[in-house]
Amino acid sequence: MSRPVQAVIHLDNLRHNLALMRRLARDRTLWAVVKADAYGHGLEQALTAFSEADGLATLEVRDARFFRERGWSRRILLLEGFFDADELVEISQLGLETVVHSSWQIDLLRHTPVEKGVNVHVKLNSGMNRLGFKPEEYGAVRAELEAIAGVRVLGCVTHFANSEASYAADGILPVNRQLSAMGKLACREDACMANSGALLFHEEVTGGAVRAGVALYGLSPDSRVDRNTLGLKAGMTLEARIIAVQHLNAGEAVGYGSRWTAKRASRIAVVTCGYGDGYPRSMPDGAPVWVCGRKVPLVGSVSMDMLEIDITDVPEADVGETVELWGEHIDVNTLASLVGTIGYELICAVAPRVPRVSGGR
Ligand SMILES: *Cc1c(COP(=O)(O)O)cnc(C)c1O
Repeated sequence: MSRPVQAVIHLDNLRHNLALMRRLARDRTLWAVVKADAYGHGLEQALTAFSEADGLATLEVRDARFFRERGWSRRILLLEGFFDADELVEISQLGLETVVHSSWQIDLLRHTPVEKGVNVHVKLNSGMNRLGFKPEEYGAVRAELEAIAGVRVLGCVTHFANSEASYAADGILPVNRQLSAMGKLACREDACMANSGALLFHEEVTGGAVRAGVALYGLSPDSRVDRNTLGLKAGMTLEARIIAVQHLNAGEAVGYGSRWTAKRASRIAVVTCGYGDGYPRSMPDGAPVWVCGRKVPLVGSVSMDMLEIDITDVPEADVGETVELWGEHIDVNTLASLVGTIGYELICAVAPRVPRVSGGR
C-alpha cells in the first residue's frame, strides 16, 4: 500500500449475504445486482463472491463483456436494456438478456439483424413512473416482440418505488399499490419483481425471480432497520491511517473554516481519507470513526485528502494506527443519515483512487 487508504472487500461476508438472499428467494431465480461497479465493491470481487448466484444484473455491456472474459457462463441481465444498435449486436453475441422498456427499443430490435437472437424481458411500469410499459399493455407488447425474428420473450420485470419495512403505525403496505397495478401478472412464474427491500420485508411479493442488490453488500435497504437484526454483514470496510497527531490547547481550531474548536487540551489525529476518496465533505462534527476498538468523533471539515478525529480519550491511538471510516463497526447507513442521504450513495461514491482489496476467502 502506498497512500494508506483502501476499501477492504469482505468476500466471506458477501457470500454470507448472498446465502441469506438465497434462503429468502427460496426456489426463485436469484439475480445478484452488480451495477455501479458492484455498488462500489469492484466487479472482480463481485464475480468471486457471487459465483453461486443464478445470474448477474448490471447496466453496462462493458461489465458483461468483463464477466464473460472471466469465464462467467451463467445468465447476465441488462437492467436498463440497450442504448443503440451496436449494443444489440454485442448482446446477442455475448448471450445476454436485456430489458425492453420503450417502443424505440422495439423499433431497434425490428431493424437490427442479430444472428443468434436476443432474450428479452418486458419492463412494466407498475407505479414508479420511471421505465416501462403499462401492465395492461403486456400482452400486446409481448406479441409485438414475438413477431420479430430472433426475439424471445422470457417474462416481465417491474421495480418498486417503496419497498421499505412497513409498521403498523403506517397502516399501509408500501408495495401493495404496485402489486395491484400488476394484477394477475404479479402471480406469474415469469414475473421478476422483488429488490432487496421486497425480499427482506415483503413476503407477499412473489413471481419467479428476484433481484437482490444493496443487501448483498450488507446494507439494510431501510435505514430504520438495523442490518444486524436482518443478519446482514458489512461487505466493505473503508480504512485509512493516522499519519500525524496535533496537540491543541483549548480555544484552538481544526481544519478549513476552523469549524471545530477545542474546548479542552486535545489530541487530534490526522487520517488519510477525504472527500477525494468518497468520504462526504458534509459530514458533521461528532460523526463516529472507529479506532483502537472504539468510536471517536470526527472534528472539523473533511478535506480532500484528510480528515481529523479527536483521540484525546484514546491515549493508545497514535501515528500508524489503522482507522475504520465505515464497515464492520460503523454502519454506512448511520453516516448516510448524518448527511441526509442513503448508504447506497456513499458506497457507490468511493473514488477510483481507493484500491479495492479482497479480504476473507
Ligand atoms: C438497482 C436495482 C435493483 C436492486 O435494488 P436494491 O434496492 O439495491 O436491492 C433491482 N432492480 C432494478 C431495476 C434496479 O435498478
